[in-house]
Amino acid sequence: MTQQIERTLKALKANRFGAQFAPSAAAARALILDMIPQNASVGIGDSVTLRQIGMLEALIKRGNNVINPFTLELTIGMSEDPAKHRLFKETTRKTFGTDVFLTGSNAVTEDGKIVNIDRAGNRVAGIIYGADVVILVIGRNKIVKDADEAVKRIKGVIAPAHAGWKKSRTPCAAGSECTDCASVDRMCNITVILEKRPINTDVNVILIDEDLGLGWDPDWDEKRVRAIESNYRKNTWSFKKE
Ligand code: SF4
Repeated sequence: MTQQIERTLKALKANRFGAQFAPSAAAARALILDMIPQNASVGIGDSVTLRQIGMLEALIKRGNNVINPFTLELTIGMSEDPAKHRLFKETTRKTFGTDVFLTGSNAVTEDGKIVNIDRAGNRVAGIIYGADVVILVIGRNKIVKDADEAVKRIKGVIAPAHAGWKKSRTPCAAGSECTDCASVDRMCNITVILEKRPINTDVNVILIDEDLGLGWDPDWDEKRVRAIESNYRKNTWSFKKE
């Protein structure tokens, strides 16, 4: 375990979050299966990291009732089809009433905070106050120094990459720096920083010693950044519909 991971886990625990280390995706999968009872219902907040580690398949195979709104069936054509959009929103709301809410996060800080910026808000809503137990699966590449760095990383790297790939009508999708835009496609509508554990929600972080999901420091070597991008694109539903 690197000193950065060790520092982050210690700080998360000091902020009363559950925090566990997984040396690999396989170890994380086993850990999460142990944390979730076989008869528990599990709501999903969209997360490429979850797909990369094969978590949904493992839970379904084990017999858990998994409520996942982020399927191709529910999402493709949703914006042009009001009935489909309604069904998607209804399914999303059901994830707040499950026993466990499982998702990823945009960033975790070395001083033990969890930072997310959402477009719709279902992920942050589910993390704050829905299921009694929340599990956040986070790769080592999402660790940043503090909350300011986290927001800078999200608006400087993550949102622009995501917006560009989705061909969104935002300035950052076209290669400009963040302009705090007013685009209808704006990705950054809700910023949530969990500073300490919410009193009624058992929030747990599983920190994996692998690069997962979307996020990097522009100063990292290009090979590592390209690998993160490529693995992300292979696992995001936005590309599967193309
Ligand atoms: S606020 Fe707009 S321009 Fe800035 S990162 Fe978010 S989507 Fe891009």
